[in-house]
Formats: sequence, C-alpha cells, structure tokens
Amino acid sequence: MDYEQLFQDAPCSYLITDEAWTITAANASFLAWTGYGSDDVIGTPLPRLMPIGDRLLHSTHSAPQMQLTGTVSEVSLEILDVEGQRRAALLTAVRAVRSDGGVEIRVIIFSAHERRQYELELVAARRRAEESEARSVRAEAGLQHLALHDSLTGLPNRAGLAAILERDIAEPLPSMKVAALFVDLDHFKSVNDSLGHNAGDELLNIVARRLSSAIRDTGTVARFAGDEFVVVEQVSALSDATVLAQRLLETVNSPMIIEGLEIICSASIGIALTDDQGADADRLLRRADIAMYRAKARGRNTWDVHDPSESDPAVNRMRLLGELRHGIEAGQLRVHYQPRIDVATSIINGVEALVRWEHPTRGLLQPIDFIDLAEESGLIRDLGAWVLNEAIKQGAHWSASTVVHTPVEIAVNLSARQLIDPQLTGIVEAALARHNFDPHMLTLEITETALMDNPAVALTVLTALKALGVGLAIDDFGTGYASLTYLKDFPIDELKIDRSFVNGLGSNDGDSAIVASCIQLAHAVGIKAVAEGVETDNQRSTLLSMGCDLAQGYHYSRPLSPEHLTNWITSNTCATPENTFVDTRPLADLDNTHQQSRHPAREPATT
Ligand code: C2E
Ligand code: CA
Ligand code: CA
Repeated sequence: MDYEQLFQDAPCSYLITDEAWTITAANASFLAWTGYGSDDVIGTPLPRLMPIGDRLLHSTHSAPQMQLTGTVSEVSLEILDVEGQRRAALLTAVRAVRSDGGVEIRVIIFSAHERRQYELELVAARRRAEESEARSVRAEAGLQHLALHDSLTGLPNRAGLAAILERDIAEPLPSMKVAALFVDLDHFKSVNDSLGHNAGDELLNIVARRLSSAIRDTGTVARFAGDEFVVVEQVSALSDATVLAQRLLETVNSPMIIEGLEIICSASIGIALTDDQGADADRLLRRADIAMYRAKARGRNTWDVHDPSESDPAVNRMRLLGELRHGIEAGQLRVHYQPRIDVATSIINGVEALVRWEHPTRGLLQPIDFIDLAEESGLIRDLGAWVLNEAIKQGAHWSASTVVHTPVEIAVNLSARQLIDPQLTGIVEAALARHNFDPHMLTLEITETALMDNPAVALTVLTALKALGVGLAIDDFGTGYASLTYLKDFPIDELKIDRSFVNGLGSNDGDSAIVASCIQLAHAVGIKAVAEGVETDNQRSTLLSMGCDLAQGYHYSRPLSPEHLTNWITSNTCATPENTFVDTRPLADLDNTHQQSRHPAREPATT
C-alpha cells in the first residue's frame, strides 16, 4: 500500500502512537537512527524514550496546543537510543482519525543534522506524495503534507510555517532581515455567516492564491489559522516590508466573484522584523500579531509595524499577575472608602469600599489597572475575600469608635466570579462573625451584568446571602439588560444608577429621563435608588427633586483612606444640612496633598 511504503521510505523518523503516546508503529529510519528493533519500541510509551520523561509533551505549552489544535509542532527534545545515548531531536505530531474511525497520533522526529537534509528531501517526498495522491485516496496523501500543510489551501500550516521561519531566522540571506506579516481578513465571519462555509472556503482559497502571487520566490505564504495568513519574506529594510504590505492589501482588495456575488475583501496586516538581539519564531509572530491588532483598531484595511523596543502586553500582563499575587500576600492592597449620602438630609449613610493597590514601584493603582486581570485569573477570589474582611473590620472599628458618632454602613463590591463561587455565603458569614459585625450594616453590590450572566444561579445565591441579613444592591444599573421580572424577583434592597446617566443630569434630556425612571422603578418595587458619580451641585439638586434616596460622588467626596474618611466624617457631621458639603475645604486640602505626592491617582495616598 502506498501509505505503508511512504511511511517506511520516509527520509526521517516516523512513529505512530495511540492517544496516550504508546508507540504502535515505527519506520525504518527511526529504527536505524536509534538502533532499536521494532519489538523494542512497539508497545512502549514514547516518553519512556526521553531522558526527561513525558514532561515535554505535557509541558504548559505543548499539552494545551495538542488539545486545542490537535498538533504539537517543533518541540525540541532528546531521544535515548539503544545505547542510552541522548540524541537531540525535533518532534512534530498531529492527531488524526484513521479510516476505521480510531484516533492515532502521527509523530515525526528529526535529528538536528537530519533537518536540512529533510528539507531538501521534502520537495522530492512531496512530489512522491502527490503522485501517490493521484492514485490513492486524498486522506493518505502523505505524512509530511498532512503534518506541515493546510488541507484547504495547500499552503504551509502553522507547523510548516514554524519550520520555515526558524530556518530563515537561523540562516538569513546576507544583510537581510526576516519580515513576518500577519494578515488577518476583515469581517471574514460575516461572509461565512451570510454565504455559508463553502463560500468562506472559496474566499480563503482566492486570498491564498493572491497572496502567493504577490510575493517573491524566496518568500512564503502560510495559513496560520482560520482567516489568518502569515507572509514571510527576507528584506533589507523596513520599507521593503511596508511596500509589500501595501501590495498585499491591494491584491486582497480587488473584487472577487463568489457564488455569483461580487465581494470586496480587506485585511489588516501587522509587520514585525527580526531585530539585532536575535529572534525566535514565536516572538516574531507574536509581535506581528500585536501590530495586526493595532491595524484593526486603526480602522482595518491597513498595516502597522511592531517596534522591537515596544514591550509585549502579554508579558506585561503575566508580570503584573505575578506581582498582584505576591502583592495580596505582602499586604500591598488598601481599601479606600467613598461616603454615601442621604440626598434629602445630606447626612452620611455609609461608605462604599473600593480596592487600591499600593504597588511598590508604580504607586497607587486603581481597580481599572488590575481588577480585570484578577477576575480573569481567578485571583479575584482571594482579593475579594480580603477586601470583604478588611471592610468589615473597618466597619466594626467605626461602630466602636468614640470619635465617629453616626452609624456607617459598609458596601462591598462582588465580582461576577465571586457570585458563582459556592463558598461565597460561607466567606461572608465567617467575616461577619469574625468581627462581630451586624449583617444589616453590610450591603453587597453586584453589577447588573453579573446578575444577568446567569439569573437562575444569581437568584439562589442572592437568596442565601439575604438569609444572612445583609443588604443587596444592583450596581451600574442601566448598563446591562436586567429584565423587570428579575428585578421584582431578586431580593434586592438598592438600585445604583450608573454614573454615565447621572453625568448628563440637567444637561442631557435623555439621561435625565433615564435617571428619573430608574428612581421611579426602584420605588415601584419598594427599594432605594442610589445615584453614582454625582459631581455637581446641580446634579445633587436635580436628584433631590426626583426623590433619589442616596448619592455618592466627587461632589461630596472622593474615595478616601480610612484615616482621611474618619476626619471627613467628624468634620462634616456637625454641619447643618444646608452647608454640609458646600465647604469642601478638607477635600481641597487632600487634593493639595495629592499634588505633592508621587502618585498619579487623584486620591490621597494611603500612609
Ligand atoms: P463601581 O462599583 O461603580 O465604583 C464606583 C467608581 O466610581 C469608583 O471607581 C469611584 O472612585 C468612581 N467614582 C465615584 N464618584 C465619582 C464621580 O463623581 N465621578 C467619577 N468620574 N467617578 C466617580 P474605582 O474606585 O476606580 O472603582 C472602579 C470599579 O472597580 C468599581 O466600580 C468596581 O466595579 C470595581 N471595584 C473596586 N473595588 C472593588 C472590589 O473590591 N471588588 C470588586 N469586585 N470590584 C471592585
Ligand atoms: Ca459599586
Ligand atoms: Ca457602580
């Protein structure tokens, strides 16, 4: 059978394994290279032939890659030969479905010096494969082709691209640099969705042909994934690459006929060139990808260049995540408190706890700089539990204080992820008990979007929290799509009207109408309305006339450290309602403090 012959005659080592990497077949090249007999290896798990066992195949990079794409490409590792000698090799593997429906992994291994030879023979092998393709079924068209090429366009695939890029980077032509152009089609999904997958495939094939004919012979076009192509060319200067990018855009732009319809397609291109510090293929592609996103952001159908001195956002995020994890343990988090004011009496009703991060080198960071990261990484659980405990501790402190005479309710924000944490109720209950804090003095704020993510789960959790005696608020109301049914069914005590609507109060009729109806809505279901982000006295008086219950915002006070808030309360509670917040002297003083501080935040730094 052609397939069997191809397997045996191949110029480099091939193995077939089952899904658990146990070898089921090995070709002659592999046996000759390692000195093993066929019986020695068949039935042996491949990792056992590696000095570091299966760590590489299950490494953080390879395992997810295998799971997601069904391939592992160009992993460098060592194989132990029959004498126990280590032999450096590169491994590429594809998961494939056999004609009988079973799953196998096809593994290609080449030794370091075999690699060049392999590349030369690849051409010959491909010709052989093409010949055999003509005779046998397409699925058996040849292992190399399968492993290194995309079946739709015939272009090198991600693994094929990696091999080519690594070769070009290792041995560039004299005084040339390697340019990678990441080409991502604009709005491809809408073609696929509206005209169907066949039309989508046809479009990809046309683009593949056009890109291929727009580059030099020494260049390569690869299909990276879906509607992403990568063009590799050796250039003497950046301007060569940008000229090429422009040419690629033009060729993609010219109209094409698909299923009788004239379609104009466009692309966004990111360009990266190898720098003098040397480069690896992964990094070069990542940089081109970053530039591509920038081209998209600039309005599509354009190109952008990645400068090697730019820092890598992915790396920055990873670094920040590590720092945050450490920062939580090292006590770098702070909680600031913003007063919530009774609109009618101007008396403080409570405070909202807002987290801050006193970063050792970057100063006081605001939630916008790290909350999403904490949420995505799951770190929000620890962070949220810490904030909750800290805020309740502070609340208990104020309750017992002889300086603060008004009761101070505490509001704490919960993230979407905390809401679905089965341990949430236990955590809240424990924190209340730990500080002997009255549950009625605690309100938990949950955003409208988090509630609507999964209303059924939210209802269960809210009911359990409510049973503890704590208050519940819907945060950022108006920005999500809460249905009125839920609003009625959820055991909610407050509705916090989003800052974006409060902002337009008095100046924007639409916003004023929204705020007024939110207040009416809240009152209709028997709960309080809280306005967020009140910045002017005009907004305050409008809210008063609309019957809004509570308000918070810079007009009253910015979020403050516990010490500053204690001062703020003591210097504001003895004033009469009329002039209570007009005198902003303590605040102005605080702003001055801030101007002298090194922190970019507008709030005073925690001492
Ligand atoms: P949020 O819950 O809507 O908090 C109100 C935000 O509005 C706060 O921003 C506050 O400083 C800001 N703000 C208050 N008054 C005004 C005003 O008059 N004008 C303007 N322009 N802004 C005002 P901050 O502290 O940066 O917090 C941002 C968001 O981060 C919060 O929005 C909340 O969603 C989240 N967050 C803060 N702390 C925590 C936390 O401990 N846990 C969780 N899960 N999220 C938190
Ligand atoms: Ca909030
Ligand atoms: Ca809010």
